[in-house]
Amino acid sequence: MRRVLDARRAGAGRRPGHGRTRWMPRPGGTTVARNPSPVSDPLASVDGMSEREYDLIVIGAGPVGENVADRAVQSGLTAVIVESELVGGECSYWACMPSKALLRSGAVLRAARDVDGAKQAVTGDLDVAAVLRRRDAMTSDWNDSGQVQWLEGAGIDLVRGHGRLTGEKTVRVTAADGTTTDLVARHAVAVCTGSAALLPGIPGLADIEPWTSREATAVQNVPGSLAILGGGVVGAEMATAFEGLGTEVTIIARSGLLGGTEPFAGELVADALRARGVTVKTGVDATAARRDDDGRRVLELSDGTSITADEVLVATGRVPRTTDLGLESIGLDEGIWLDVDDTLRVRGFDWLYAVGDVNHRALLTHQGKYQARAAGDVIAVRAQGGAVDAAGDVIAVRAQGGRGRRRAVGRARRDPPTTTPFHR
Ligand SMILES: Cc1cc2nc3c(=O)[nH]c(=O)nc-3n(C[C@H](O)[C@H](O)[C@H](O)COP(=O)(O)OP(=O)(O)OC[C@H]3O[C@@H](n4cnc5c(N)ncnc54)[C@H](O)[C@@H]3O)c2cc1C
Repeated sequence: MRRVLDARRAGAGRRPGHGRTRWMPRPGGTTVARNPSPVSDPLASVDGMSEREYDLIVIGAGPVGENVADRAVQSGLTAVIVESELVGGECSYWACMPSKALLRSGAVLRAARDVDGAKQAVTGDLDVAAVLRRRDAMTSDWNDSGQVQWLEGAGIDLVRGHGRLTGEKTVRVTAADGTTTDLVARHAVAVCTGSAALLPGIPGLADIEPWTSREATAVQNVPGSLAILGGGVVGAEMATAFEGLGTEVTIIARSGLLGGTEPFAGELVADALRARGVTVKTGVDATAARRDDDGRRVLELSDGTSITADEVLVATGRVPRTTDLGLESIGLDEGIWLDVDDTLRVRGFDWLYAVGDVNHRALLTHQGKYQARAAGDVIAVRAQGGAVDAAGDVIAVRAQGGRGRRRAVGRARRDPPTTTPFHR
């Protein structure tokens, strides 16, 4: 059976021994080079610059980037992953993991209160400090050492810093201290840079310093009141979580809740939130934002009313993290969602892939990881000289010699991407 990385469970120290053992981790090192093929000297450093060559460069070590690299390495390719923040990405630290952790305690309490025999035993409210401590543990206190360890065990090299394309198959990584590393890909570059919260252009909104999903999921001081702009999944989840933590919550949604799902689903969620005391305002929009004399946030609404709250959470959608990515160096506009074919390859390029949130097909970790496994396979098969049709199915594989390459070809034949087809 194939090994599948579940990055969302890969907290600090939680995956000892996970992955293969052919590489020994270097203690203390976060920037490592296991298997680069030298362009000149792989460790050469001139004026704070070095250059390395790999089969595959992955930009972004979220759950998707980790899986693309892992799959390609399992097929015998060399891979390096570039990360500017925390290895594990949004999901592990500011999205799936902390949001579900914040929801869980309240869900268990409500379930107990629904069952005779259990409800008599429940005499208090949530312990807010304990809920936040549990959330902190789930995010490994925003420490990615466990996931770095996993990368090391999986044989994936890591370069920390901001990655930018500089041309065909080349990426420059700028570290926090300003030093740069130039990476060259023999076969492919996979952009897995994810998405960020969209801040709508409502007058005054940026000035009131609203929360995004990052501040909400990483909250340390629970506010007395919270106004949530947006009635999608993030808005509905955070309304549920913060109501459970004792916050007075108002949701402001342009249409109904959970747009994109069957209307009855959103209506059921709205009813459940109202039953718990959340104010749900649908069919309204915020037209302006400001602070009042006490420094509290005020949202003016399209129905002529206003909401005052300690904090405002903006949950109105996502934007691609493709600004400052060097897209202009290959003739693309920055800030765009990267349009891919069904093999996850960016249209118009034979070496550039975009996987996960950044291609805008399905902004979910499990969907992104599914894409990642398909992309890793496709990149490996093409690197062996094989052909892949538009649906991601292997149609011809040609061995090109070299131990790792023969192994990859064999694996592709045994377990080709047809078993994990990628569809929209
Ligand atoms: C509040 C919230 C809750 C969610 N809950 C769920 C859930 O329960 N289940 C689910 O399936 N999905 C959930 N999602 C969606 C999920 O978080 C994303 O779909 C997932 O994180 C996308 O993975 P990714 O690897 O594509 O991108 P990301 O996780 O965003 O990772 C991208 C990585 O790339 C790095 N990066 C970006 N640009 C550069 C650069 N130029 N150089 C170097 N590194 C760079 C970033 O630092 C980041 O680490 C949730 C989202 C939110 C906002």
